[in-house]
Amino acid sequence: MDEKIIEVKCRFCGKDIECPSAMQHIEDHCCSECYEKINDGDIKPEEGIKDIHVDIPMCDFIDNLAEDATENLFPLIWKEYKKEKATLSKKELARAMFTTGFAAALDFLSGDPEQEEPDE
Ligand SMILES: [Zn+2]
Repeated sequence: MDEKIIEVKCRFCGKDIECPSAMQHIEDHCCSECYEKINDGDIKPEEGIKDIHVDIPMCDFIDNLAEDATENLFPLIWKEYKKEKATLSKKELARAMFTTGFAAALDFLSGDPEQEEPDE
């Protein structure tokens, strides 16, 4: 991971935010606060937010997502982890869980794409 971080401006409030250079080509950037306001309906972008880079602090993002989603998405892996890593805090567990589960899900999705094509 030697991705460069560049500085861009939030489209809505003009605040300086960070953006990985890989997402530099996206025209719109949005800070996490404005993104929350968009979700709450306080800001209404005219053209939608399809191609927008949001500067969500990654650790918060994963923590929230992990705690919300892992137990529901990956109950079996979650159970195994609970057995083996009982010394971890719930948050650590959730994060480890999410990373593992997510990687497993990606493996699964990229494993056999031919079966997933009803296009013909
Ligand atoms: Zn903003």
